[in-house]
Amino acid sequence: MEKRDYYEVLGVDKKATQSELKKAYRNLVKKYHPDSNKNDGAEEKFKEVQEAYEILSDESKRSAYDQYGHAGTAGFNPGAGGYSDFSGFDGNTPFDMGDIFSSFFGGGNQGFDFGFGNSGRRQAQGGADIRYRVRLKFDEAMEGGEYEIQVQRDETCEHCEGTGSEDGKVETCSVCHGSGQERQVRNTILGQIAVMGVCSKCKGTGKSIKNECKVCGGSGVNATSEKVKVKIPAGAYDGMILRFRGGGNAGNNGSAHGDLYVEIEVETSSKFERRGNDIYSDVDIPIYMAVLGGKVDVDTVAGNVVLKIPNGTQSGSIFRLKGKGAYILNGEGKRGDHYVRINIHVPGKLNRKEKELWEELSKV
Ligand SMILES: [Zn+2]
Ligand SMILES: [Zn+2]
Repeated sequence: MEKRDYYEVLGVDKKATQSELKKAYRNLVKKYHPDSNKNDGAEEKFKEVQEAYEILSDESKRSAYDQYGHAGTAGFNPGAGGYSDFSGFDGNTPFDMGDIFSSFFGGGNQGFDFGFGNSGRRQAQGGADIRYRVRLKFDEAMEGGEYEIQVQRDETCEHCEGTGSEDGKVETCSVCHGSGQERQVRNTILGQIAVMGVCSKCKGTGKSIKNECKVCGGSGVNATSEKVKVKIPAGAYDGMILRFRGGGNAGNNGSAHGDLYVEIEVETSSKFERRGNDIYSDVDIPIYMAVLGGKVDVDTVAGNVVLKIPNGTQSGSIFRLKGKGAYILNGEGKRGDHYVRINIHVPGKLNRKEKELWEELSKV
């Protein structure tokens, strides 16, 4: 089912103030509340109203919605859970680009999936996540592709293969017996309580090393700086966050990698304006074409398109070029539409012949 415009759902103007939104919301909730309204479709309406209000009552979500339509709020993930522990991106949920190795080295066609609620993000002892920003030109974001970024991160030590041990010998920690956890007694206002904490001896690895690796000093990781290729989906938009699983820092002593997050910044275009998956542009046509009809070349993000102008076209008319807009994320190659607004160009200077002809026309 196609999603309705949130403003339309609440029956308010695009410029509505927060108090107007609230008022509209309260009235509709009363009207459609499943406790009082047993009509078919009331519950759907109720949910729709809830969702619209959830987005529009939050200024940052509202502005994303105003700019990109429903695509802009896809990342806000209303009520779907997951990622509640992730606080680095102002509530914007990242797009899951899958495992970093498969996405970097061409491991199949997994593309990107909306991996909300994917648990087991990383182990307590795993490496930290890394965040990078990539700035793209408008056209680059439309096309997507592979981009190289210089990433500073901890990599697994090759000398000891991440074990942290010079001789490869790793023993089980004598304090926690390998669990990585230690029972600790804490003094609280409620008296002494016993809690399970990270083992003080092995720092949670559960292992003990007598002869520490000379290269990494026993941590199993070394700081590196390397160029990394990241795949950016066609149609990426400003503020979008991509998650590459396993692209972050390597964890100590061979534990899991953190994730790499890439935030996309898109430059504005002088030619095109983007709203959701649709692209808008203006085109000038000469006045005779507006009167008599004709053909004009229109530049779109999907290439050049010849637009037929019907006779009697008015200034400000809008024509839709279907499927010539931005790629739809996860849309299997489908695109939004391109809207062209017609400006009629009125000649400023006329030569004698033209002047005569216009004068003649004026007498008709
Ligand atoms: Zn231990
Ligand atoms: Zn090492």
